[in-house]
Amino acid sequence: MHPSADELYQLVRKRLPRISLGTVYRNLEILSELGEIQKLELSGSLKRYDGHPHRHYHIRCVGCDTVADAPIAPLAQLEDELYHTTVFEIIGHNLEFTGLCPACSREQEKAS
Ligand SMILES: [Zn+2]
Ligand SMILES: [Zn+2]
Repeated sequence: MHPSADELYQLVRKRLPRISLGTVYRNLEILSELGEIQKLELSGSLKRYDGHPHRHYHIRCVGCDTVADAPIAPLAQLEDELYHTTVFEIIGHNLEFTGLCPACSREQEKAS
């Protein structure tokens, strides 16, 4: 699951009807600073969070903005290569794949 803050807010509100969106945001910030969750830096309109704190890549559907985990290992050698070729101290990288989820690719087949 890669919910947006708003989706999480809707979920939490079912259990805690009086919670505010601001409280949900603050707790998400705290959890991501603690490394319990990840704030995802993806393109697309929504800021999303990830319950998996370890580094992994994502595939985003260009049709419906659904995000799934990409089942490949992180490319540590990319950062090693940069270590020798840039004056920057590299602290991370993002890699995002784009594609069509099964539902959207069915839609597209129907349309064509
Ligand atoms: Zn889709
Ligand atoms: Zn993920």
